[in-house]
Amino acid sequence: MSRTKLQELGIDLPLFPITSVGSFPKPDFLVKARADFAKKKIRRGALEKAERQATEFWIRTQEELGVDVLVDGEMYRGDMVAYFAENLDGFEEGGLVRSYGNRYYHKPIITGEIHWVEPITLEWWKYSRGLTSKPLKGVLTGPYTVMDWSFIEYYPDRRTACLALAKEIRKEVEALIEEGAKIIQIDEPAISVRPEELPVAIEAMHIVTDGLPAYFITHICYGAFENIYPNMLDLPVDNFDLEMSNSGLDMLELFKKHRYTKDISFGLVDVHTHVIEGEPVVEQRLRQALETLPEEAIWVDPDCGLKTRTVEEAIAKMQSVVTAAKALRAVTSTK
Ligand SMILES: [Zn+2]
Repeated sequence: MSRTKLQELGIDLPLFPITSVGSFPKPDFLVKARADFAKKKIRRGALEKAERQATEFWIRTQEELGVDVLVDGEMYRGDMVAYFAENLDGFEEGGLVRSYGNRYYHKPIITGEIHWVEPITLEWWKYSRGLTSKPLKGVLTGPYTVMDWSFIEYYPDRRTACLALAKEIRKEVEALIEEGAKIIQIDEPAISVRPEELPVAIEAMHIVTDGLPAYFITHICYGAFENIYPNMLDLPVDNFDLEMSNSGLDMLELFKKHRYTKDISFGLVDVHTHVIEGEPVVEQRLRQALETLPEEAIWVDPDCGLKTRTVEEAIAKMQSVVTAAKALRAVTSTK
């Protein structure tokens, strides 16, 4: 497993490291500030102040909960693809479209050559790192997903667009590493939709991660995993962060048929429901994971980003994950 790699990077984590996927809900004061900014009632400086305040709130909350690997919570992002498109050269904002569920976003249009001009998330990573002594993940949207959720005008085909994006996103990864980031997550929720394009996603991930000194995670969700497993294990990352609970832990059956070979961030709570899963349910899910996967390979977190839940629900769901991990740590360490 990749414990050795983490140790080489100077990161020592307990059994079942607790993390979250990336996004947390925006507190009311930030929702209001974003609305006021959109109506030009406040300036950018005032909006950024609210974003910093909200980021600090989530860093403190994660520390109080006992999370091991923190995230900045993405208080400064709207949509996960549009945010990167807005900050890379080569994109124009498109019309509002609906994707899965109730997600509406301005589908970006690739109208020119894609260029990374300057760090995109780095200032937020540095700001958050200044607020905690815990390891902090860098979280970026992956090239395949940015390509898949954009209209492509400039490039001749999807693969070319995806690889061009990968080359530029690598620059953001390098900037994070240079500043001290050691755990970097590349979100690729779109990866399971077209299994025939998995080789393109793998090629792109190589461009993003090859030869770089970091522990890489990729988050995949909403998918027909049976179509991309076990081939997805060829993605050059150390850890797959997977939505497990929403699909009733179905993936474990696939892991029994073909051995799972990476670390996993095992989604222990469903983010699509208001219901807060109680301790026995969440603990049972972790026990089931342990029946199929080696304990040292398992990290725990919610299925997906928590931004669609309320602040209270998000905290309660994180608390369920923390409680289950701690309960099973205690049992396992006395084994
Ligand atoms: Zn997700």
